[in-house]
Amino acid sequence: MSGITRRGFIKLVGGAGAASALGLLGYAGASRGAQGARVIVIGGGFGGATCAKYIRMIDPGVNVTLVEKNKAFVTCPFSNLVLGGLRSMSSITHGFDALRKDHGVQVIHDTVTKIDPSAKRLTLKGGKSLSYDRLVVSPGISLKWNAIKGYDEKAAEVMPHAWKAGPQTVLLKKKLDAMKDGGVVVIASPPNPFRCPPGPYERASMIAHYLKQHKPKSKVLILDSKDQFSKQGLFMEGWNKIYPGMIEWVAAGKGGAVRSVDPKKMIVDTELDKHKAAVANIIPPQAAGKIALDAGLADEKGFCPIDFKTFESKMHPGIHVIGDSAIAGGLPKSGFAANSEGKIAAAAVVAALRGQPVADSSYVNTCYSLIGPKYGISVAGVYKITEKGITEVEGAGGVSPKDADAGFRQDEAKYAMGWYDSITADTWG
Ligand SMILES: Cc1cc2nc3c(=O)[nH]c(=O)nc-3n(C[C@H](O)[C@H](O)[C@H](O)COP(=O)(O)OP(=O)(O)OC[C@H]3O[C@@H](n4cnc5c(N)ncnc54)[C@H](O)[C@@H]3O)c2cc1C
Repeated sequence: MSGITRRGFIKLVGGAGAASALGLLGYAGASRGAQGARVIVIGGGFGGATCAKYIRMIDPGVNVTLVEKNKAFVTCPFSNLVLGGLRSMSSITHGFDALRKDHGVQVIHDTVTKIDPSAKRLTLKGGKSLSYDRLVVSPGISLKWNAIKGYDEKAAEVMPHAWKAGPQTVLLKKKLDAMKDGGVVVIASPPNPFRCPPGPYERASMIAHYLKQHKPKSKVLILDSKDQFSKQGLFMEGWNKIYPGMIEWVAAGKGGAVRSVDPKKMIVDTELDKHKAAVANIIPPQAAGKIALDAGLADEKGFCPIDFKTFESKMHPGIHVIGDSAIAGGLPKSGFAANSEGKIAAAAVVAALRGQPVADSSYVNTCYSLIGPKYGISVAGVYKITEKGITEVEGAGGVSPKDADAGFRQDEAKYAMGWYDSITADTWG
């Protein structure tokens, strides 16, 4: 962590507001017992990149290798804004140079194909194998193909999910650009648990923003596998104000859950109806990242049980699972939470290497959503460990107020921009 002072470190942790600074600082300082230890982190997204960087910040004596399949990371946060025409793909793409140059993380671009927990080795698609003392796994999510009948990888080329930002985002944007005015954009929203609980509804808003300007006779139809959703009151209030009559939401209880799709005919089927889509955005049910599933880190429901204090796997000791793949109690599957977990896991990894105890941590999550360019809403939560796991501290967070005036909503939209800049700098900067 060349050039990073203790004060700078406090600022960084505090600036992201993500993890208990005191908990982390308990471990900052000269290496005792961790010198030369090898830590591998799988996945250079919100959880993995943060964890790799913070291990090096806490103890520069640890050798950290980050294995990430892509040369650059495209964030899902703000990918909905690309669909709305408010952002470019390049503005949500982040490289790994700062992790390499400023933090001394060795970054390898390859895919991990196998983890052998007993030998503490992993195999890369490129043929290499690497050994570790501790492993951190942050591979995001996998999509459950065919959980919706007919929705497989091939169908996703016609009806994009765009739930991993990158080529799928570009594809969905192209389809929106190509559609004729007067069509229906169908969004299938998945059952819990899934990545980014407010994401499908921010997406509906951003698509409506685009349609209102360019194809005003068109509609957005959200077919939901749930009966309620995150920030529902605020979203619906915003939709009524900015896009009256343009967005329709069908709850699971009213027959909203999508059962099957026919990509050739562009038909989306629920229990009760068949819907003809001009553009279909099918977000299927989800599970932990494939490598976590293949390594036996997940339970029968498809996500990874962990110790809430250290994020060490309950299936394989010595491996920490963070981010969307982990079962993190009350914490949502968000980039902010993954960043927070990356710091907690970094402290826990260094403590384990040093043979030191782990301090208690607290967790924070804030999630902004844009309904329009000048209309933001948010939800915030503070979490602590109780006998029930990671639990939300009552009264410490909540959603932003309903019936707020235009200035308040505009400020929230501004804070969303600030949040994005600070979390991406904290993760990849
Ligand atoms: C549309 C949308 C909007 C969102 N908006 C927000 C928001 O506003 N705020 C917010 O906080 N969160 C938001 N999220 C959620 C956020 O994107 C995720 O919660 C976050 O990315 C999870 O971090 P992660 O580290 O678990 O996974 P990721 O960030 O997805 O990182 C996983 C990485 O692992 C790599 N990988 C996987 N397997 C392997 C392997 N075998 N070998 C090598 N590399 C591998 C992948 O290439 C990927 O780069 C949004 C999500 C979506 C879909």
